[in-house]
Amino acid sequence: MENNLKIGWNLENTYTSLPNIMFSEMDVNPVNNPKLIILNEKLAKSLGLDYTALKSKVSVEELAGNRALEGGIPIAQAYAGHQFGHFTMLGDGRALLLGEHISPSGELFDVQLKGSGRTPYSRGGDGRAGLGPMLREYIISEAMHGLGIPTTRSLAVVTTGEDIMREMVQPGAVMARIAASHLRVGTFQFAAKWGTPKDLKALADYAIERHYPILMDKENRYLLFLQEVIERQAALIAKWQLVGFIHGVMNTDNMTISGETIDYGPCAFMDTYNRKTVFSSIDIQARYAYENQPNIGAWNLARLAESLLSLIHEDQEQAVELAQKAMTAYPEKYEEYWLAGMGNKLGIFNIEHEDISLIDTLLQLMEKYGADYTNTFRLLTLGKIDESDLFGKKDFDLWHEKWQQRLDEQDVSKDFIQQLMQKSNPVVIPRNHRVEEALEAAIEREDYSILENLLQVITSPYDYSSDYIDYTNLPSDTSGPYKTFCGT
Ligand code: AMP
Ligand code: MG
Repeated sequence: MENNLKIGWNLENTYTSLPNIMFSEMDVNPVNNPKLIILNEKLAKSLGLDYTALKSKVSVEELAGNRALEGGIPIAQAYAGHQFGHFTMLGDGRALLLGEHISPSGELFDVQLKGSGRTPYSRGGDGRAGLGPMLREYIISEAMHGLGIPTTRSLAVVTTGEDIMREMVQPGAVMARIAASHLRVGTFQFAAKWGTPKDLKALADYAIERHYPILMDKENRYLLFLQEVIERQAALIAKWQLVGFIHGVMNTDNMTISGETIDYGPCAFMDTYNRKTVFSSIDIQARYAYENQPNIGAWNLARLAESLLSLIHEDQEQAVELAQKAMTAYPEKYEEYWLAGMGNKLGIFNIEHEDISLIDTLLQLMEKYGADYTNTFRLLTLGKIDESDLFGKKDFDLWHEKWQQRLDEQDVSKDFIQQLMQKSNPVVIPRNHRVEEALEAAIEREDYSILENLLQVITSPYDYSSDYIDYTNLPSDTSGPYKTFCGT
């Protein structure tokens, strides 16, 4: 208890109030020799946790899963999911929910360990994770947060002192993840398929109370809930598209109910603009390519809608009709968010549907000339597009003139336009070669300085006053397309 007071953990276990089928209570799964590798000071502070106390021996044991947090009941959550279109029983096979922390502002956050050992849902897996993938999730999720995109956060990574076997032997690691919750589309699929109607209702009420409490006393709250999730996912995926983020494995178990980005495996940011970009080595059919993400979002939400049908209306036909109607909002909402975001990126305050051709032309030109997505918008923002290879190309110059005319149509000062663009176009993203460089130094040489520097830069990506120019460069060698591997 004393340790708890010092760190500031304040745990609830609301998930354990759900029907037993939804989770498995777990013992912790100790590792050999926990060592703290990285700790997120800003996040700790925002959660009301003491940074120094979090680094203590006892705390590191907790972050490694060698002992439970005081007041927490460790559980593995049950869920199912469509993986690359195929429905499977999944669940936390290498994660533990330690409890839900109440922040100083009264918000509830899941505290989850990832890589914490086998559970009843592990299937053939070892329940463990490698240092590389855990640091990768740490970097990318913190970058996403910096970019203003809803995401789970990374509080800490510890090594376990045990090697794990993958394609190569790797140091084992555990990541402490903070999330609005770990409720997924797949959680609902699980309850709909294997739970009773009562189980499903309990889960839906839990999700509504936790994420959409104002719906609690509304008539047909389950339909409204579906509509809200649709809206949040439309907003989220539009944000991904606007920064060129490719999730890589948008299975239904990797889509949250809260609207946060989750499960950073083979994800990466696109450099050269190409709608067909796929980084994941296992995504052979390009199901989760950049251009497909919005549609896959709709596909996943349709799976959520199906899971909720029996709650939406007792008459199946009417339920289907209501759910389908709710789904029609998704493409509209998505376009609304995307268009508004693109307007901001181009400094257009009063963007309209008619501006889509201006946007599309720019994207087509970027694709035609192999321009870097982030740098093109950065240089447009800075009024330095002459530094881009696009400059001087007849069709691009024509586009540029049209864009300038469009800006002139608004009764807004140049400064104002630039301010809007600076807020909307990151200077830096976690470029793939930079991420690899940081991970290699960390894993091969236990040198974390490159990682620390990278984190510093990518967590304030809109800071145009900083000298981040080195981080805007593309890799010098072009040794073939970048490939990512599932973080297992
Ligand atoms: P992910 O690819 O991380 O979204 O995981 C998909 C499913 O595989 C989830 O049910 C995970 O818990 C499970 N899983 C992934 N890696 C492992 C592992 N090393 N051991 C056990 N289960 C795993
Ligand atoms: Mg997952």
